[in-house]
Amino acid sequence: MTTLREVRKRAELDAQSRGYLLNPDAEFLNGLLEGLRVNEERWGYPSCPCRPSAGVFDLDRDIICPCDYRDPDVEEFGQCYCCLYVDRETHESGQIKPIPERRPQEKQMLALGFETEPQVAGAESTALPSKRKLYYCKVCGYVVFREEPPYVCPICRAKKEFFAEIEPSVPR
Ligand code: SF4
Repeated sequence: MTTLREVRKRAELDAQSRGYLLNPDAEFLNGLLEGLRVNEERWGYPSCPCRPSAGVFDLDRDIICPCDYRDPDVEEFGQCYCCLYVDRETHESGQIKPIPERRPQEKQMLALGFETEPQVAGAESTALPSKRKLYYCKVCGYVVFREEPPYVCPICRAKKEFFAEIEPSVPR
C-alpha cells in the first residue's frame, strides 16, 4: 500500500524535475495528496483527486497525476487544475484560483459513464454504473456524478465535507 509520505515524496520530486512547487497551503496540499493516495489504493493508479475517475485505466490515462493537462495549465495559469502544482510566482503570491477544465468534454463524459463514442476495450463495466450519485458543492453549486464527492471542489476548493447528495425527485 502506498503511504501518504510516498505520495508526497513522488509529488515533490516531480515538481522539482519540472521547476514547479507544491501548493503552499499545507492543509489543502495534504487533502490533495490524500486524495491521490486513496485513488491509487482504489484504482491501482493515482488519478486526479479533483476529477471523476472511470476506474478503467484506458479511460483515466490522461488524468493520472501528473495529468496530461498539468504542464499547459501551469504554463498558462501558473497552476494545475487542482492547484497541486504551481509555478514560483503563484507560490509566492498565494493567488490560487479556479481555472478552466482543459480535459476534453468527451473524456469527461466517458468517465461519468456516458457512452459518447465507441467503447474502449475493457470499458464495458463503466457504462451507467449503479453506485454513482449526483453531489453538489454547498459552497459554489458545482455538481458531480460519481461514487462519492471529490476530495476538493475543483471550482471553489471546498473540502469533501461541503458536498451533499442530490436526492432524485420522485414523479407523482
Ligand atoms: S490537475 Fe494537478 S493534481 Fe490533478 S492530476 Fe493534474 S497534476 Fe495531478
